[in-house]
Amino acid sequence: MFSLRNCGLWVAASLTKKRLTLARFSGDSAAPLGTKFDVIVIGGGHAGTEAAAAAARCGSRTLLLTHRVDTIGQMSCNPSFGGIGKGHLMREVDALDGLCTRICDQSGVHYKVLNRRKGPAVWGLRAQIDRKLYKQNMQKEILNTPLLTVQEGAVEDLILTEPEPEYTGKCRVSGVVLADGSTVHAESVVLTTGTFLRGVIVIGLEMHPAGRLGDQPSIGLAHTLEKLGFVVGRLKTGTPPRIAKESINFSILNKQTPDNPSIPFSFISETVWIKPEDQLPCYLTHTNPKVDEIVLENLHLNSHIKETTRGPRYCPSIESKVLRFPNRLHQVWLEPEGMDSDLIYPQGLSVTLPAELQEKMITCIKGLEKAKMIQPGYGVQYDYLDPRQITPSLETHLVQRLFFAGQINGTTGYEEAAAQGVIAGINASLRVKRKPPFVVSRTEGYIGVLIDDLTTLGTNEPYRMFTSRAEFRLSLRPDNADSRLTFRGYKEVGCVSQQRYERASWMKSSLEEGISVLKSIEFSSSKWKKLIPEASISIGKSLPLRALDVLKYEEVDMKLLATAVPAPLKKYITCRELAERLKIEAIYESVLFHQQQQIKEVQQEEALQLPKDLDYLTLRDVSLSYEVREKLHFSRPETIGAASRIPGVTPAAIINLLRFVKTTQQRQAAMDELSNTDQYLCETDKLEERHL
Ligand SMILES: Cc1cc2nc3c(=O)[nH]c(=O)nc-3n(C[C@H](O)[C@H](O)[C@H](O)COP(=O)(O)OP(=O)(O)OC[C@H]3O[C@@H](n4cnc5c(N)ncnc54)[C@H](O)[C@@H]3O)c2cc1C
Repeated sequence: MFSLRNCGLWVAASLTKKRLTLARFSGDSAAPLGTKFDVIVIGGGHAGTEAAAAAARCGSRTLLLTHRVDTIGQMSCNPSFGGIGKGHLMREVDALDGLCTRICDQSGVHYKVLNRRKGPAVWGLRAQIDRKLYKQNMQKEILNTPLLTVQEGAVEDLILTEPEPEYTGKCRVSGVVLADGSTVHAESVVLTTGTFLRGVIVIGLEMHPAGRLGDQPSIGLAHTLEKLGFVVGRLKTGTPPRIAKESINFSILNKQTPDNPSIPFSFISETVWIKPEDQLPCYLTHTNPKVDEIVLENLHLNSHIKETTRGPRYCPSIESKVLRFPNRLHQVWLEPEGMDSDLIYPQGLSVTLPAELQEKMITCIKGLEKAKMIQPGYGVQYDYLDPRQITPSLETHLVQRLFFAGQINGTTGYEEAAAQGVIAGINASLRVKRKPPFVVSRTEGYIGVLIDDLTTLGTNEPYRMFTSRAEFRLSLRPDNADSRLTFRGYKEVGCVSQQRYERASWMKSSLEEGISVLKSIEFSSSKWKKLIPEASISIGKSLPLRALDVLKYEEVDMKLLATAVPAPLKKYITCRELAERLKIEAIYESVLFHQQQQIKEVQQEEALQLPKDLDYLTLRDVSLSYEVREKLHFSRPETIGAASRIPGVTPAAIINLLRFVKTTQQRQAAMDELSNTDQYLCETDKLEERHL
């Protein structure tokens, strides 16, 4: 029988609250005890590793303090990275020289780009990752990062001093207190404590304090933050059971094979570590009415589902799905946990029923009839801090030089955590140097969208990234994240390596040159049709066409084009990425031109005041959907910038509203001028009359 008390060493060992001491120094081992650091990062999860490495890359002497070195880089839930929207965040983390993308390219076991049927702007780079390998590679990277010291310890409290008068905030953080009472001082501190603040894990009716299965919660720090006056909320999430691979009948299930070739996550990975033919497959099965029955009959034995705290809307538990969408069959993806792992992760089956009932539920699913459950699914409830308490640089308003990143800010997912980690690490370092913060705007990246949503709107459920959250998604594509962020990272903050900078510079100039060559080659459509018969070019009017226009056709790629016109084009097919990016640039050329104009227009008019008396519900002469009208009506934004940040208010609606308000203002100004002129003429007439 499984229970929270007996389901393996992972729980038992850790739930006895050990006092962790300053146990281990790694990385920059020259740092003696009592050294003052520039930056301390608390937590070795996905936000913490990125924050620590980013601060060190920016030249700050950094200390990463975490409960256990052997859990650095642990994937608490799904053995995968990326996906729709999340893949975009990863590309941006990579563009700033973050770690997770390169580590994924060294640890993936099944690479698949999602959303392929749609345009490349919304493709979702995704891969199943070997958990063990990821952790090993991440630890190797972190322990060998120059200027970074890694130390085991549980942070219980913060050291606070007088605030700097030129900044807002009631005090300033200057270090941390560990569980054994020892202290470490620093100029900036980044908190990335994930699900650990007052974490409680749940299976059935059993509840135990823990940050995740096998790890102690963070209680002292939660008290400190509350006492300081931070607004704290409560969220929940959950994970599925793990199943023995050899107990599954894969032969009757749908098999999904990986992409060939694999698309790496990192701009600087030429290829991934494993050939497509050596990668592992995934399998698809579905729930059925029997699963619904077990869930519904046992709701009284399920504390987590009864909780009123909010869970992830877009990654719900099977209980939530059964309750919200009764009588539906739900997908269950059977995903490998690693090359030499005997475990399978049933994605879509996150559950907190008592362990025996979880096993009963699993075995009524096709292919899982004889499945052996190795570890039960469980839920976790934890404190998060209202992210409206942080600035776009992720520094808190209340405590100077204290930064928050990751799940502590109400987000869910490794990618969201990593993205915030990079930004917090960079800004913690910049703050020490008294340099201006590094902020990514909504028009520059998904990172900007994520942080802007969090800091302006807050969240009351675990926030995850989607492409639909980004207004200008046609220009914020996974393929061009380097051109948006690498140069800023290199020139403004120094967090990007010379090698990456040179690669991005070469790509930028090659793309510019390639596009101008493609624009300069012009033939009649009938000549193009002869050169490339595969292309569905219409020859009716035989108009002149540029090579860039021909490249827009679905059937045409750079290889085909270079076969037709070899001399000027063959040099652009020697690099796969360059050839693919030229094709993407061709697809979006005209759309992007218009979008760039719109981005500029919105940027210039961000502060434009919206009339207070606008009745959005009945407003005529402006094309707005009813949904958008309702959102504007309830939010009553003061400026066009604020309106553009309301989720669900589309870029097209913002442009329409902006143009409407400006035209109305111009009309009003013209009328005012006219009436002033009338008045002037009137008064001149009167004067003239008097003179006469
Ligand atoms: C049970 C469970 C289910 C999940 N399900 C999903 C899901 O379905 N979908 C999804 O996208 N995401 C899910 N997640 C979330 C995902 O794991 C997180 O979003 C991601 O790991 C957050 O990264 P982070 O760096 O903020 O925190 P974490 O990865 O949790 O890392 C926190 C780190 O901080 C350390 N730490 C905490 N407190 C202290 C302290 N006081 N002193 C020193 N070190 C400390 C911890 O030891 C740990 O290393 C789940 C997480 C859990 C635990």
